[in-house]
Amino acid sequence: MIDAHIHLDQYKENDISTLLEEAEHVIAVSMNLPSCEKTLQLSKAYAKVKAAFGFHPEQPLPSDAEADALFDWIRQHAHEMVAVGEVGLPYYLRQERAIDDRPYVALLERFIVLAKELNKPIVLHAVYEDATIVCDLLEKHRITQAHFHWFKGDTEVIERMISNGYFISVTPDCTYETEIQQLIKKYPIELMMVETDGPWPFEGQFGNKRTSPWMMDHSIEVIASIKGLTTQEAARIITRNTTTFYNL
Ligand SMILES: [Zn+2]
Repeated sequence: MIDAHIHLDQYKENDISTLLEEAEHVIAVSMNLPSCEKTLQLSKAYAKVKAAFGFHPEQPLPSDAEADALFDWIRQHAHEMVAVGEVGLPYYLRQERAIDDRPYVALLERFIVLAKELNKPIVLHAVYEDATIVCDLLEKHRITQAHFHWFKGDTEVIERMISNGYFISVTPDCTYETEIQQLIKKYPIELMMVETDGPWPFEGQFGNKRTSPWMMDHSIEVIASIKGLTTQEAARIITRNTTTFYNL
């Protein structure tokens, strides 16, 4: 299996090599410039690790100088990454306190333009109503290679994303979240990947366990049963989707 979205730089050094034994490849996304640098090192140390460089939206914005430094760095290292990411909009931060969305949207648009310039896919953190704003931006810049990781949203935006050929990925929470099971029902398997978003912790049978790629086997079982496929068929389709999308 390929883990289509993991924060590998947030794991303990000692855990990384054993974790990687469980996956064929991992798409290691970045939070900010120090995280990009660490992710780049990991991709050089381990052939299975494919790097994505970006700025996670659920945190305070960078200063203009910090943002410029990050964009310069990404351009310099574009040949060492498979995608721009993780980028998006601060849905969960907004639930905690009032924030001005405009600079977040502006920063995201810069990343979308960068992905276009570098001809790379983009990894998006954009759930619920944010997905509509992100679809507007992607359509404005004619982006076709978009991956909405751990996606959640309403039927209208789901239909829009499907017709644009955007990909989603599901986490191990699909084993216990009916909202995600409904999404799997609606979304074509040809546009689906699996991920852990590790080290993010999961509940249910995964409670108190270190998040790791083996958990995706359980996600595949859920997808297979909803789609009426064998687990082997579902795994084959999803692996092929990820390999093709990230050009692995
Ligand atoms: Zn993430």
